[in-house]
Amino acid sequence: MTKQILILGGGYGGVLSALTARKYLSAAEANITIINRYPTHQIITELHRLAGGTIDEKAVALPLGKLVGSKDVNVVVDTVKEIKPDDKQVVLESGTVYKYDALVVALGSETNYFGIPGLEENSMVLKSAADANKIRAHVEARLDAYKQSGNKADATIVVGGGGLTGVELVGEFADKLPEICRAKGIDFNDITIYCVEAGPSIIPMFPKVLIERAVESLTKRGVTFLQGVAITEATKNTVSLKNGQTIESNTIIWTGGVKGHPIVGSCGLAEDRGRSTVTPTLQSTSHPDVFVAGDCAVVFPEGGERPYPPTAQLAWQMGETIGYNLSVLVKGGVMDKFTPVFSGTLASLGRKDGIGFIGGNNIELKGLPASLMKEASNIRYLSHIQGLFALAY
Ligand code: NAD
Repeated sequence: MTKQILILGGGYGGVLSALTARKYLSAAEANITIINRYPTHQIITELHRLAGGTIDEKAVALPLGKLVGSKDVNVVVDTVKEIKPDDKQVVLESGTVYKYDALVVALGSETNYFGIPGLEENSMVLKSAADANKIRAHVEARLDAYKQSGNKADATIVVGGGGLTGVELVGEFADKLPEICRAKGIDFNDITIYCVEAGPSIIPMFPKVLIERAVESLTKRGVTFLQGVAITEATKNTVSLKNGQTIESNTIIWTGGVKGHPIVGSCGLAEDRGRSTVTPTLQSTSHPDVFVAGDCAVVFPEGGERPYPPTAQLAWQMGETIGYNLSVLVKGGVMDKFTPVFSGTLASLGRKDGIGFIGGNNIELKGLPASLMKEASNIRYLSHIQGLFALAY
């Protein structure tokens, strides 16, 4: 009998699970359905470019219908409301209930506001193409307001969090705002772009020399870094810092961290601090018919004490392992263990600058080569999913 495979989430983990499973399973063997809250597969590692205005939405939001939605992979645009792993059911916001033989949970993560007063109500985030468009429109509107009123809060942008998301975003602003200001007749020197980081250093996953390179390059281009100081409160027009300083700003963007998806943490799957615990084959430790990909899962290296970080490259690779293991669940055989390959970490600092380390020997890159390498890794991803798509049909 045809098995029902349900995939929750159309991000890296979900799409790669679907495409890889379809590579091994015919339509007669499995009916595969992706449920996603947007009609697009979003390249979230490039959202900072959409927010900054250097690319348009088409580059980061690929229609799922075109990518996987043929007669062989169904796409349902809806939001998951509840997962009932003991009943093998998923309930959607629309009220539709899906039954499954095998489930993939790949819903990503949520913004963590750490309970900081006023932050959630008064800040924007960068988790989707819609968020990026909102940031872009908001910044333009504040600049127009600044031109009218001269209110400094309209010319001040605060990015909270100096992780990769925050740093790549200020890099885009540093690149694009001079041009936008010129077009509006505003002096770019009037604009202040803050990146506030609570930890002792921004992007601590990089060697010191590359962090210094990033700070120097972005400072020269108009970014002010406040490191070792936490945001403690936000209002519509102010950001309070732990050192007592208050910044007047009408544009607050929060990139201070992520946490497990609330549905995943509370649905009855075995979990650890809101993320599903999984076996080496990426099955839930409590429900072997449920696979978990990307930020929803907490995955430890064999014998390791620290889990892998929640990155796009791991979500993608988890999706591929899960896709193959789904075929084993349906047809029999031996499942693959998840053995990630780390190709490195790259951060763009605008269009023509970047830092990173790549390959098994962690070769360090900076400047244009790093920025081009980041671009190449994006192209590699796009051609990979399109190649899998071609293989599947
Ligand atoms: P993150 O958790 O990596 O960084 C958040 C930063 O915010 C931390 O440095 C933290 O110290 C800081 N912070 C927390 N509370 C704060 C406060 N009160 N005030 C000021 N700063 C505060 O989050 P992220 O940057 O969104 O990244 C999430 C994941 O996505 C990471 O695993 C990252 O590697 C990945 N990512 C990768 C890329 C890339 O590969 N280029 C790009 C974006 C994100």
